[in-house]
Amino acid sequence: MNISHIEHIGIAVKNLEESITFYENVLGLECYAIEEVADQKVRTAFFKLGQTKIELLESTDPEGPIGKFLEKKGEGVHHMAFAVKGIEGALAQMDEKGVRLIDQKPRKGAEGLDIAFLHPKSTHGVLMELCEDKNKS
Ligand code: ZN
Repeated sequence: MNISHIEHIGIAVKNLEESITFYENVLGLECYAIEEVADQKVRTAFFKLGQTKIELLESTDPEGPIGKFLEKKGEGVHHMAFAVKGIEGALAQMDEKGVRLIDQKPRKGAEGLDIAFLHPKSTHGVLMELCEDKNKS
């Protein structure tokens, strides 16, 4: 396993525009991208803090993962994403160690990253995402 840093923190929000206003006006961060990920039924907004990003997630479908999360838990931290080198190998290692994988194989996430989620039941309660920027590595 080769984790280099926290790539991003994913935060579920009810309203993307209102949340962007808070992050910009109160925290003084700058939203540099808004992207819809149809696959995950979300609209995302990104902010950079050094090497780490904040990813705001607004649901586009109440039946999608963020829609369900918001209904159950309300707004808040949804997942934490680690930047790894060699995501396929990292997933194989996780599998060997008995970690429950949500994604057996990496898929495409926002910003063209390869991503895969680990089940919070086997990570002490945190939904974890592994991601790799294959354009960089
Ligand atoms: Zn994420």
